[in-house]
Amino acid sequence: MLNCGQVLRELESYLDDSLAADVRKDLQAHLGGCHHCEVVLDSARHTLRIVAGCKTFELPESLSDRIMASVRAQKTS
Ligand SMILES: [Zn+2]
Repeated sequence: MLNCGQVLRELESYLDDSLAADVRKDLQAHLGGCHHCEVVLDSARHTLRIVAGCKTFELPESLSDRIMASVRAQKTS
């Protein structure tokens, strides 16, 4: 079973659909039982949807860094 840190490290690959099937399954199992990671995934997905829905908006390269930084900040609190 993955822990929260591992899930958050794989989150970008999960959203990219580039995870190996077994890792993806472990990650989904964790998300099913961990509210914290579920919330993080929801907000990351929401952010991606906003970006994808606005073609004229250029995605700042730092965006995923900022998402991951806020994830880490939440995790330590
Ligand atoms: Zn978790």
